[in-house]
Amino acid sequence: MKPPEQIEVTRPDKMLWPELAITKQRYVDYLDAVADLVLPWTRGRPMTLVRAPDGVDGKRYFQKAASSYAPGWIRTVRIPAPSAERDVDYVVAGDRATLAWLGNQAALELHPAPVRTDRLDRPDLLVVDIDPPEGEFDAAVEVAFLVLDVLDDLRLNAGVKTTGGKGLHVVIPIERRVDATELRGAAARLTALVAGRRPDLVTDAFRKAGRKGRVMLDPSRNGAGATIVAPYSPRARPAGTVSFPVVPDELGTVRPRDFTLANVRDSLDRAGPRRWQDLAHERVRLPARLLHD
Ligand code: ATP
Ligand code: MN
Repeated sequence: MKPPEQIEVTRPDKMLWPELAITKQRYVDYLDAVADLVLPWTRGRPMTLVRAPDGVDGKRYFQKAASSYAPGWIRTVRIPAPSAERDVDYVVAGDRATLAWLGNQAALELHPAPVRTDRLDRPDLLVVDIDPPEGEFDAAVEVAFLVLDVLDDLRLNAGVKTTGGKGLHVVIPIERRVDATELRGAAARLTALVAGRRPDLVTDAFRKAGRKGRVMLDPSRNGAGATIVAPYSPRARPAGTVSFPVVPDELGTVRPRDFTLANVRDSLDRAGPRRWQDLAHERVRLPARLLHD
């Protein structure tokens, strides 16, 4: 079934981000404005959503299975759920109409999987999730530069984006040769290389107790069933920050709050978005050094 030309916005005046006066209509308009930039990162990918039907001040929940009332033209992909008995039908957003429909559903965060439907067992993105201690974005920036140095030595191209939360994501598009377990191993070797350079600053062990103010890199973000918030996706938090691509040159000066639903449309021609448009089509092969001990 073909998607409709126009999606009707129901209750357009519903306030989703009151602090920014972003109504549902304005959110749907935002998604339309960034569609060309966000679709390369959602197309073909099973997507988990954060729904907040009453806006950011109401109840929020992760939703994996597409709503049973989704119209027939919404594409989904069925993935067996390892733990539950039921398979899960995930939404796959490949066009503007689907983004608009999701906006109208008050899907306030878009979390695509690092796999595409034609090869669900071969991820095409490796993600380094940089989690600084609360309120220490500068530390995340310092670690991002470390990660980029290590990637440079390995001749791997990457993109950096703010998460819209407290940290940064470094995303490396890879050839679809390894499975999720092997990818997770590669991510663990990569984060160990980074932590090894600055053990005072970085920890890659998922033990919050042992963090002692260090920046956490969690390689398990690359395991089966993992997701990563899409670039340009807002976060379902009062400040309305969005996950936004940045280039290394501007890392030292940007703050997560520079990019919100209210202002980010003025930033779409910056270097970060341009870099990520190319990045969406690049694929590198993981070096042997990351695949074997
Ligand atoms: P921050 O910079 O604040 O850490 P983040 O997006 O990196 O923002 P994390 O909690 O570090 O948030 O999670 C990393 C990624 O893992 C998220 O982008 C999200 O896609 C996924 N994730 C986190 N929690 C869940 C969850 N409960 N269910 C599904 N996916 C999740
Ligand atoms: Mn994170």
